[in-house]
Amino acid sequence: MTDQPTIELGLFEEDQPRARGESHGERWREAIHELAELRIDLTVAKSAMRDRDEVLAVARLHLPVLAAYDRDLHEELLGIARGAALSPEQIVVLNHYTDLRDVPREVLAGPIAGGEGRGAPEDGGCTAIYLPGRGAPVLGQTWDMHGTAAPYVRVLHIRPRGGADELLCFTLAGCLGMTGLSARGLGVTINNLTSTDAQVGVVWPALVRALLREPNAATARDRLFATPLSSGHHYMIADGRDFYGVETSGRLKVLTQQGGRAAHLHTNHCFDPVLRRHERVARTSTTFRRMELASTLYVQQRPRDAEGLWSLLSSHEGYPRSICSHVDDAQGDPSASRTCGRMVMDLSGGRVLAGAGCGQEVPASVFTLDRWPPITHDHD
Ligand SMILES: [Zn+2]
Repeated sequence: MTDQPTIELGLFEEDQPRARGESHGERWREAIHELAELRIDLTVAKSAMRDRDEVLAVARLHLPVLAAYDRDLHEELLGIARGAALSPEQIVVLNHYTDLRDVPREVLAGPIAGGEGRGAPEDGGCTAIYLPGRGAPVLGQTWDMHGTAAPYVRVLHIRPRGGADELLCFTLAGCLGMTGLSARGLGVTINNLTSTDAQVGVVWPALVRALLREPNAATARDRLFATPLSSGHHYMIADGRDFYGVETSGRLKVLTQQGGRAAHLHTNHCFDPVLRRHERVARTSTTFRRMELASTLYVQQRPRDAEGLWSLLSSHEGYPRSICSHVDDAQGDPSASRTCGRMVMDLSGGRVLAGAGCGQEVPASVFTLDRWPPITHDHD
């Protein structure tokens, strides 16, 4: 632990979603411009879309879907665009990059039934772990992405002046949030899955934020099942009592893990046999290896609290294809996968450990929710 923040924090206290987004966009304008450009170029390189104009056109199709799904999050995304002086579709690419790559370009000709995406499967991913027990429950993950994304990781602290809501999210400059903890005691993590049935759907960081607004894990699970998705993810949803792990492809959703009293681990391949038919795991992916490493380290280390999980998620066992991943070093390709940061959420204490970069070099910074503990749990 250190007093020096090891990840940049942005506190946003605006009550109105549009104003909050504008403030976010203004604050990190330069970083947002760089990351949007980087991700537009990567989408052209790694998807079936032919050029920048096609990428932006496909991104644009996601805006009315988001507006219909959640007016506030649509407003916040438009606010980020306005504050950063970019177009809304550029902000969609920045947010939705991992899903967008899987979407077939044929969607430009209208909705397609059962189309196959032809994006290059991602060789990166994330490792997510849920711990039950004393000093827990704790939920955490690494965030493994193109190594060039590392300078853009941030913690988003949303604490509107009016009302009782509050959130801490691990995110990127310009992104609505990738994983987080709410003052209602709800935590959500994500793992990317590469689907072959991708479609135009809800921009996935908006879905994460929508889930974090729910009162508890059960209602968040229901919200996820009711959401039209774009491509595959695994979502871990926990509230200190209940735990749900849901695997999705573009068109399917399956509850694959359940129960707050057991440990749960996930990397970037599907457990569900039906979903496996709709995924493509890159030959270069470290997902099976990380699953094995995480399972072994879990048994060896028996982490019991947030600090223990942080240490596991920083492991260099098997470097460079380790839990704290450095595949880009091995391949000499700066756009290859590496662990760009990690976040661990203490669901019993309202505390978040977060840091950018390598866990062996960068210690955790601790952030706390001010409106903790949650007053009620409206379990059904
Ligand atoms: Zn490392």
